[in-house]
Amino acid sequence: MESCIFCKIVRGEIPSFKVYEDEKVLAFEDINPISLGHTLVIPRNHAKDLWEIAEEDLTAVHLASKKITQGIAKALNPIGVACLQLNGPGANQVVLHYHLHLIPRVSGGPELPVANWELKKGDISAIKATAEKIAAAIR
Ligand code: AMP
Ligand code: ZN
Repeated sequence: MESCIFCKIVRGEIPSFKVYEDEKVLAFEDINPISLGHTLVIPRNHAKDLWEIAEEDLTAVHLASKKITQGIAKALNPIGVACLQLNGPGANQVVLHYHLHLIPRVSGGPELPVANWELKKGDISAIKATAEKIAAAIR
């Protein structure tokens, strides 16, 4: 897509700190990292989000993320890696080209904000009703 910033990275029109590429996938460092090693894994083909991405591109991104996470483990020795993927502006997706965040945390590093939410007991009947609604909607 012409104006998409990640498509521009795929085409080499703007620079990136590339860590991995194959026929379907590209991975590069996030320029506003939550932690050092914060990496974005994207399909070369433009697709906005999880609703739009082709199954083969989705598979390729997530298989590559395993390889890249192994690389992050070897290079940075993190105590954990958060995988985060946002869909839609309502979920704070800013770049509308599918991307998976890989966010490592090293020993002594601050807690990852994306992996640190307060657990509050839910309304069991609302949970049950919603589960039934979603299950019925899955084809
Ligand atoms: P999201 O909220 O999931 O859409 O996150 C978009 C991410 O893309 C943010 O973490 C940005 O820092 C990152 N980002 C935006 N432009 C670039 C760029 N040119 N190179 C690397 N990362 C970028
Ligand atoms: Zn794009």
